[in-house]
Amino acid sequence: MTHYQGFRIHHDAAGHHAGVERLPLPVPAAGEVLIRVSWSGVNYKDALAGTGKGKILKTFPLVGGIDAAGHVERSASPAVREGDAVLVTGFGLSCDHDGGFAEYLCCPADWVVPIPSGLDPRRAMILGTAGFTAALALHRMLVNGQQPGLGPILVSGASGGVGAIAVNLFSHLGFEVAAVSGKTELQDWLRGLGANQVLGRNELPGDRRPLEQAVWGGAVDNVGGEMLAQITRTVATWGNIASIGLAGGHELHTTVMPFILRGVSLLGIHSVEVPQPLRGELWTRLASDWRPPQIEAIHSATVGLDGLPGIFEQMLKGETHGRVLVRLGGASG
Ligand code: NDP
Repeated sequence: MTHYQGFRIHHDAAGHHAGVERLPLPVPAAGEVLIRVSWSGVNYKDALAGTGKGKILKTFPLVGGIDAAGHVERSASPAVREGDAVLVTGFGLSCDHDGGFAEYLCCPADWVVPIPSGLDPRRAMILGTAGFTAALALHRMLVNGQQPGLGPILVSGASGGVGAIAVNLFSHLGFEVAAVSGKTELQDWLRGLGANQVLGRNELPGDRRPLEQAVWGGAVDNVGGEMLAQITRTVATWGNIASIGLAGGHELHTTVMPFILRGVSLLGIHSVEVPQPLRGELWTRLASDWRPPQIEAIHSATVGLDGLPGIFEQMLKGETHGRVLVRLGGASG
C-alpha cells in the first residue's frame, strides 16, 4: 500500500472546498505511530470544519476528523506496540494536523490511548469525542460535589452526540435526568436512554429574574446562549453546570447572583487538551463502570467518506441525532 483515501479540507484561491482524495502513505518519524483507521465518528466540530462554517483548521489543507480508532500498523515509539487497538481524540487532529477521516493516521505516539477491554474500535467511536466530553463533564461535576440528592441533571441538546451519551451516562450512575430536545419525535428514544422527563427547547421552567425557583441539581449544557443563561437561574444551591457547547449561540448573558447566592459553579469543559493520565482514566471508566448501557441505541447511522458532506449539512441544521459512525477501509460490523 503506497496511498490511502482521506477526506481533505482546503481553503485556497478557490475558497473552501473538501472531498475524498488519494494521499501518499506517510512513514512515521521517531516518536510517531501509523494507525490503520477502521472507524471514526462525526462531531459538531467536524461539521463546522468540513463545511467551512467554523474556523476550526489552523492550517490548510488537512484531513478532517477529530476522532479515529483502529490498529497500530507501524510504531516508531517504544510506548506503543504494533497491532494494538488504539484511539485518538482531540489534540491537533483536524486543527493543525491531519485527522481521522482517512484510512491511515500518522500522529505522535503520546496522543494515542490503548482501547481498554470492554470497548473495540467501533464502540470507541460510537463514544468518540462526544462520549469522552460527557465523561469529562461527569468527572468535573463529581469532583465538585455533584450527587443525585441535589436534584435532577438537565441535559440540553439532548438528542445530539454529547447529549445522548450524557443522558445515558448520568442515568446509569443513578442521577435523575431531564432531557431538553427540539425533537419531539425522539421523546421515546430519549426516555429509553434514561431520561425521566423530556422538555421542549422553550419549556424550561422559570422567568428571567436573576434567581428563579431552583429545579435542577445540575446541568450539562451543549447549547449555550439563552438556554445556558436560563439554566444558571434555576440550578439548586451547590449545583454544577458543565458548559460544553454552543449549538444555540456562544454568548452568555446572566448575572452573578446564582454564583454568589447559591454557590452554583459553571465548569468549563475542554476535551481537546486533556492531560494523558486523566484521558486514559476516563476512557478506562467509559469501558467499564461508566460504559453507557445503551451504547448501541446511541449509534444512529454509518457513512463512508463520501457521505460526510451530507451529514455535515444535516448536523448543522440540527437534523441528526445520536452518533454517526464513519466506516473506513475494510472495517466490518
Ligand atoms: P450534535 O450536533 O450531535 O448535537 C447538538 C444538539 O444541539 C442537536 O442535536 C440539537 O439537539 C441541539 N441544537 C442544535 N441546534 C440548536 C439550536 N439552534 N438551539 C438549541 N439547540 C440546538 O453535536 P455534538 O453533540 O457533537 O456537540 C454538541 C455541542 O458541544 C456543540 O456545540 C459542540 O461544538 C460542543 N462540543 C464541545 C466540546 C468541548 O470540548 N467543549 C467537545 C464536543 C462537543 P436537540 O434537537 O435535541 O435539541
